[in-house]
Amino acid sequence: MRNRVLKIDKGFAQVVEAPMPTPMNDFIVVKQHYAPNCIEHRVYQTGYFEFHESPVHCGHEGVGEVWDVGPMAKGFEKGDRVIVFQGWPCGHCHVCEGGLSPTHCVDLKYPKHVEAANKSASGGNGFCEYRLVPAAMLHKIPDDLSFKHAAAGNCLIGCTYSAMRDHHIGPEHVCLIGGVGFVGHATLVNLKHRGATIIALGRHEGRMKTATELGVDHIVNPEANDWLDQIKDFTPNGRGVDYAFECSGYPYYQQKCLEAVKHYGTLILLGYAANEGSDLKWALNTEYGLCWGHKTITSHFDVNSNHRTDLIQTLRDPWIQKMVDQLVTHDLPMSRAPEAFELLNQKEAGKVYFRPGE
Ligand SMILES: [Zn+2]
Ligand SMILES: [Zn+2]
Repeated sequence: MRNRVLKIDKGFAQVVEAPMPTPMNDFIVVKQHYAPNCIEHRVYQTGYFEFHESPVHCGHEGVGEVWDVGPMAKGFEKGDRVIVFQGWPCGHCHVCEGGLSPTHCVDLKYPKHVEAANKSASGGNGFCEYRLVPAAMLHKIPDDLSFKHAAAGNCLIGCTYSAMRDHHIGPEHVCLIGGVGFVGHATLVNLKHRGATIIALGRHEGRMKTATELGVDHIVNPEANDWLDQIKDFTPNGRGVDYAFECSGYPYYQQKCLEAVKHYGTLILLGYAANEGSDLKWALNTEYGLCWGHKTITSHFDVNSNHRTDLIQTLRDPWIQKMVDQLVTHDLPMSRAPEAFELLNQKEAGKVYFRPGE
C-alpha cells in the first residue's frame, strides 16, 4: 500500500505516491475521507510557503477513520470516526494545560517534526490520504454526524467558534464582519446562531449575495464615503459596534473594523493573509485609534481544546448543517486540486473539500 500526498508549488498541484506511515508512540494514522482546503490555494498562486510548509507539507484540516494505532495511543481503535484538529502542540505549556487553542501553543511542532517522530516519509501534513496525528488532536464524532458536517469543525464553524464563546456573544450585541470570505461567512453563521445583529463590510458581489442568503442584517460597502456613518446608524445611539471580526488579514479591513468599534468595544482578528508573509504591516495610530476609545484588539485562529465537545454538539444542529451545506461550494477528488485552486484564486469558490482517496 502507498500513501497519496498532494504536492503543491506555484501553478502546480499533483497527487504523488509516498510510503505508508506507521504510527509510533501516541500517534495514530487516520484514513482521511475529507481534507478541506483552507488557504493553500495561495501557495498555488504565489509559491510562498509558510515556515511549517513545503511542497509536500501543505494542508491541516481533516476527518476520517482511525486506520492504525500507535503502541502508546489510548482511547481509539481501528474504525473510529474522528475529526483531526491541526498541529502537534506540546501538551504541557500554559496554553495546552488551560485547554486553550493548540494553534497558540508556545512550543507547537509541525509536519516535518511529526514525520521525524514517526520515522516516516509522509503523513505529517493535511493533504494526504493516510495521516499521522497525535492522539490528543483527535476527537470522536457521533454516528449521526456525517463526515461532511463534522469537517466544518476545522477552519469553518470550528475556527470561528471559540472567539464567540470566549466573548459571550449574544442577542444584545451588534457585530461587524470585515473582509468576508469563507471565514467571514462562517463567522456570520456562528454569530447568527447566537442571535447577534450582524453587519457585513464587503464589496465582492458574490460573497455579499452569500452573506444575504446566510441571513446578514445589513451590508455596507467599504468604498462608500459614508461607510462609517452607515455602520454607526445600525447601532444603539450611533455608538459603534460592540465587536468587529476582521476576517481577511489585510490592514485595509483591520483599520476600518477598529474605527467601527464602540468605545470599550473589541476587535477580534480572525483573518490570515498568509501569502504576504511578514511584510504585511498595519500602521496603527495607538493613541487616537485605540487608547482614547479604550478599545481592545485580540485574535483567534482555532477552536479551544476545551470547546471541542460542545463544538461537535453544535455541528449536529440541523440549522448549522444547512448553513454548512451552503458554505461548502465544492466537494472534489484531491486529484482535481488545480481546478479548485484556480476557482478559489478567482474568488469563485467558498469552502472546498478534497477527497484524498480519489
Ligand atoms: Zn485551516
Ligand atoms: Zn503547548
